[in-house]
Amino acid sequence: MDIAAFCEKNGIECFEREPLCAHTSFKVGGEADFFLKTPSRAAPRLIRFLNEEKIPFFLLGKGTNTVARDEGFRGAVVNIIPEEPRLCGDGVGIECPAGASLRALALFAFDNSLTGLEFAHGIPGSVGGAVYMNAGAYGGSISDVLFSSVFCDGEGNIKEIAADAHDFGYRKSFFSENPGLTVLSSVFKLQKGDRAEIEKKMSELSEKRRATQPLSYPSAGSVFKRPEGHFAGKLIEDCGLKGFTRGGAQVSEKHAGFIVNAGGATFADIAAVIKHVQKTVYDRFGVTLEPEIKILGGGNF
Ligand SMILES: Cc1cc2nc3c(=O)[nH]c(=O)nc-3n(C[C@H](O)[C@H](O)[C@H](O)COP(=O)(O)OP(=O)(O)OC[C@H]3O[C@@H](n4cnc5c(N)ncnc54)[C@H](O)[C@@H]3O)c2cc1C
Repeated sequence: MDIAAFCEKNGIECFEREPLCAHTSFKVGGEADFFLKTPSRAAPRLIRFLNEEKIPFFLLGKGTNTVARDEGFRGAVVNIIPEEPRLCGDGVGIECPAGASLRALALFAFDNSLTGLEFAHGIPGSVGGAVYMNAGAYGGSISDVLFSSVFCDGEGNIKEIAADAHDFGYRKSFFSENPGLTVLSSVFKLQKGDRAEIEKKMSELSEKRRATQPLSYPSAGSVFKRPEGHFAGKLIEDCGLKGFTRGGAQVSEKHAGFIVNAGGATFADIAAVIKHVQKTVYDRFGVTLEPEIKILGGGNF
């Protein structure tokens, strides 16, 4: 069976020659042969099919920590569509499908007067991407509130793991260390809180973001992991690299830890800026900056 027929049979939307710049927050990248939008319940069957047919695939959430290559991707990009979170357990748990946005999850917690996810409100990714990355901000991270996850392996087998089996670390998890697994949904354990307090904290953090981050330009957030004992943005700024530009890619003037697409950037431009920043910071401070952002389809900058 070909991909289009499989998708039609399983309620999956299939787009051919889909531009990846439309699905990544950097707004860069060529075409994917196939872009498949699947409900989470059909994802295990789809993953098994792609593996059986030996079709290379890449799982993309909201594409806010991923940059696509100029030549695109030869294979299928799999995207789990957003679905609604729901209360579970004793009313302080939320079960959330992987394709939902973190923002929707944080707002659902707020609507139910549950505290613990305020930090996640401004992170623009999906729940699946956030669990994979152990996303975090302003002192909170996914690992603080995650209770369990359901995922599937390459053969489409569905499994469940508890929080401690996620092996969370700084911007890493069991899933980032074991490629080929797909997060389908996660349960978060929160606490009863005060609605007004939750709202106040979310808007304070949003304000902080607006004041310090270049949100009016396409980007993938902080490009580098925080090196031990340093802040990447400070090292880059101290090297005088704010505003450093190659083609359309630029070290943000507002936050040196961000590279922005200042207009018409290509993957090659972004890679050139990353390499220049890494070399300059290493030569000046002896510190290696490791990219946090992922390349769609894998490989290095
Ligand atoms: C303006 C801006 C601000 C940001 N601020 C923050 C911040 O404060 N803190 C922070 O941590 N990050 C931040 N980010 C980065 C990003 O939003 C997070 O890393 C987010 O968790 C990525 O989610 P995503 O769905 O976009 O993942 P994607 O970029 O789509 O994917 C990231 C990785 O996760 C994998 N993946 C995605 N979904 C699944 C799944 N269901 N199962 C298995 N693997 C999966 C992908 O294969 C890929 O390797 C920011 C980004 C931007 C653009």
